[in-house]
Amino acid sequence: MTLSKMLAGFVRRHWPKYLAAAAMLATIAVLTVWIPRQVGQVVDGMIAGRVAGQALLIELAKLVAAGAAIYGLRVGWRLALFSTAYKLGRELRIRLYERLSLQGPAFFQSKRTGDLMALATNDVDAVELAAGEAMLAAFDGTLTLVLVIAMMTLGVDWRLGLAALLPFPLMALAFWRISEHVHQAWKQSLERFSALNQHVQENLAGVRTVRALGLVERSEKQFVQLADSAGEAGFRAQRWEAAYEPAVGMTLSAALAIALGLGGWLVAHKELSIGQLTAFTMYLGQLIWPMFAAGWVLSLIERGRAAWGRLSPMLDEPLSLADHGTAGRPAEMRLTLRDLNFTYPGSERAAIEDVSITLPAGQTLGVVGPTGAGKSTLIRLLLRQFEPARGSISLGGQVLPEFTLAALRETLAWVPQEPILFSATIAENIALARPDASREEIEEAARLAAVHDDIARLPQGYETLVGERGVTLSGGQRQRVAIARALLARAPLLMLDDALSAVDTGTETQILEHLREQRQGRSVIIVSHRLSAVMDADRIVVLRHGRVTERGTHAELLEQHGWYAAQWRYQQLEASLDAEA
Ligand code: ATP
Repeated sequence: MTLSKMLAGFVRRHWPKYLAAAAMLATIAVLTVWIPRQVGQVVDGMIAGRVAGQALLIELAKLVAAGAAIYGLRVGWRLALFSTAYKLGRELRIRLYERLSLQGPAFFQSKRTGDLMALATNDVDAVELAAGEAMLAAFDGTLTLVLVIAMMTLGVDWRLGLAALLPFPLMALAFWRISEHVHQAWKQSLERFSALNQHVQENLAGVRTVRALGLVERSEKQFVQLADSAGEAGFRAQRWEAAYEPAVGMTLSAALAIALGLGGWLVAHKELSIGQLTAFTMYLGQLIWPMFAAGWVLSLIERGRAAWGRLSPMLDEPLSLADHGTAGRPAEMRLTLRDLNFTYPGSERAAIEDVSITLPAGQTLGVVGPTGAGKSTLIRLLLRQFEPARGSISLGGQVLPEFTLAALRETLAWVPQEPILFSATIAENIALARPDASREEIEEAARLAAVHDDIARLPQGYETLVGERGVTLSGGQRQRVAIARALLARAPLLMLDDALSAVDTGTETQILEHLREQRQGRSVIIVSHRLSAVMDADRIVVLRHGRVTERGTHAELLEQHGWYAAQWRYQQLEASLDAEA
């Protein structure tokens, strides 16, 4: 959709406000062109001795009243209009945010965070300006132009009017040439601002790494380069816009010279009064606003078009994760993976190949294997972050796309290896999926995740702020808070994706024991590098290069003398050496 179509749709929806603003502007325009006429008549009246004393005061009072009315109406149209344009900015930001929050990881893998943030701020602002100032300046400028020209030609003298307008086509030409340059420069300015945003976002998020690797100076240099380049594009746009002002000035000077030359001749030949010539030169002065309005509108529209060109594909981008399912939460939790195959977008090697696994409801599945084997990918397919190329995943006999995404998310609780804590209290972080949970329930979940004692030792206990603005928790504490969060969600399938990697073996055993005791029919999938985390699982699969190479219980796998048995021996040896040390 083009910017003009989008704006037309918006104006249609908010037409009463736009109509009110337009009516006020039209009144202003009429009053504005009335003033020179009034001045001209007063001048002629004074020369003829008709207007003097009280009559003069009344005429002057009319002029002051017109000025005051113009002032009031100008405030009025701005209030009516900007409150509406602000709504467009709000609407666009909400649409963008909703669209982004529905997109899957495949979308975010191909987009940069800094770009998306720039779109939601800078670009939306630019479109908002096009819907506000630009539209009304265009309307006001055109109306004033038409009225002033009508008054000059029909109200004063048509010959003088036409002659004075002769230089204007030249200005239109300059206007047209400048607009293309302004568009290109604004487009570049927005793109470079995005790159700057991306740099700031990455470097602030990874500030510790940047410092630890001694990259501060390099990062600063890059920042200066990006800031310079963004500033240069913005400056270039403004320089082109600045070229517009002399064009307006020169056109008006030429028009004034014609008006005074021809007007003086007409006055000398008694075809025009001095008052009429005064009014005419005032009208010429009033043409300055429509000319500048044109330049201003040009800049705002070009910036809005460039921004809309970046925003609209993002708003229309198809969701990378379709939500066409209708089924609610599965009635039965038997999990079946059948001949699953998956390759990441842009990758040549399959991450998952011909994987088939069955997990009866309420049982625990252990998934182990060397690094890069595809364990996390399997979990991501279960979460429907990506769609398998072939094969299917079903819960209680229904394949995943048959469920609504909301139902699926209520069914699955996922603890990633590096969980995110939000800038909120620990209690709020644990209760993320169930904000209505009582303090007892939150504490119970924390006890099951073996993190209650850690929390109790924090300065404000459960009310301690964590995340970016608060206390920094250790990796192991963060993992356990995330486990508590998942347990409180009471989802029937819990997935721990290497979620115990940062806790010691003793705590790991404690958490797994709690899980077993409090499982309440819940199925559990545990992905782990440490085999001790899965040894009590009902079923264990070993993944290597995306394929299941071994499967069975712990005892069965030990007897197979494969990767699992070798890894088990190695890890046991390692543990006993650690114990001795
Ligand atoms: P680890 O134990 O180290 O966490 P893993 O068994 O969980 O490893 P995965 O993260 O599932 O392994 O990765 C499987 C393969 O897919 C790897 O070769 C990895 O490089 C690749 N891969 C993972 N994520 C992506 C991605 N987003 N895009 C492209 N390839 C990916």
